[in-house]
Amino acid sequence: MISVYIGIWVHPKDLCLDVLERTFSNIVGFLGGNAISVFMNNMNFTKMNLLFTYDGKAIGYSSRAGGLFFEPNAKLYRATSIRPYRYRELLCFDLRHVVNRAYSYGLEVVAHVNCLNMGLEGNMHYMVDDRGEPVLYGGAWVCPLDPNVRRYLIGLTEDLATREEVAEIEIGEYWHPISPLMRDRITCFCKYCRIEAKDRGINLDSIISRMRKDDLSSKMRRFMNKMGEEPFEEAFTFRNYDKLKSLVRYGNISEFINFRIQTTTELIDDMVTTAHDYGVRVSALVPPPDIARSLGVDYRAISKMVNVVKPVLYHRMLRRDVKWFSKQCVKARKLSNGMGYPAIMVLEGMNLREIMLTARKALDTWKEGIMIHSYSLASLEGLEIVKNAINEYEKRRSKSSFWSFLSSK
Ligand SMILES: [Zn+2]
Repeated sequence: MISVYIGIWVHPKDLCLDVLERTFSNIVGFLGGNAISVFMNNMNFTKMNLLFTYDGKAIGYSSRAGGLFFEPNAKLYRATSIRPYRYRELLCFDLRHVVNRAYSYGLEVVAHVNCLNMGLEGNMHYMVDDRGEPVLYGGAWVCPLDPNVRRYLIGLTEDLATREEVAEIEIGEYWHPISPLMRDRITCFCKYCRIEAKDRGINLDSIISRMRKDDLSSKMRRFMNKMGEEPFEEAFTFRNYDKLKSLVRYGNISEFINFRIQTTTELIDDMVTTAHDYGVRVSALVPPPDIARSLGVDYRAISKMVNVVKPVLYHRMLRRDVKWFSKQCVKARKLSNGMGYPAIMVLEGMNLREIMLTARKALDTWKEGIMIHSYSLASLEGLEIVKNAINEYEKRRSKSSFWSFLSSK
């Protein structure tokens, strides 16, 4: 068994009372995990982790405005028009109970917050792309400069930080979106961004016309269309990210890129300060170093603010380009001063051996530990793979974990 930190991202649906003990037992016994990150607010995705609730089928869900996976303290959200509510399908989810049970298995619990990739009602708070349309593709993205979004996220941070069962808040999805579904579109040009940019001496209309003059738009479209021809998850490769990076650099829009970086950094600063005021540790997910700026993230600034950095090094990098993956691991470690754990994404079509190879590759650079993230094991195929592996593992009744189990095969 590897004596490193292994954190597993789980969805509250994995933590319903009837499957709670089995889930924890599998996370500890099979995956050798010592921590779980649990989603606290909903994301506009239908496929979530569902690593172990595989009896029958994968459960999808749709998100609504302000849905939380715990009972919110409504008083803390007074300053925003976004109304939080407890997610109805998850009445069985009791945060304190889950945390207490997790501790009994030796698992640390981290509260994960998706900042900007949230499903909300209406078109009120969404980012607006350069064509003036709300960003409802590749997830639903809200704007970090929308004052209601800002106050909601501060309220959510305070809500979690004041719960004695929460020891760490993990912040993710606070950047601008990149998705093959966005095609040639860029964010954000909403009214709040326009006002704020103007105050900082940036004219967003001029940015749009410069992008078009530089033909950035059609270059992006050609690039994104090409990505779109590939299966969705395979379109996210480091090689494709690298092309994107050069496209963004090509466009003469550096003040716009910097403006996005400043605004996301300010949001994270507010959230981290709030959590730290209550003595709660904060970790932040950070995109792969080579594309962080393109997504509006200042890797170094975020690393300095938070207690733990979790670089997201995923998207089927292993099959596509192992060298890229290793390079990102090394760069991420340098930028993070080594305090953190890289997050690995497990995707549909990857078998357990591949998952382990990816994990081992990351552990070459980050010897302290890794995080494992999976959306796509929620597919029937993915669930079947895990189910069979767990069954085989349980049959053997060996004390070895997922890791040694796989290396012995
Ligand atoms: Zn905006």
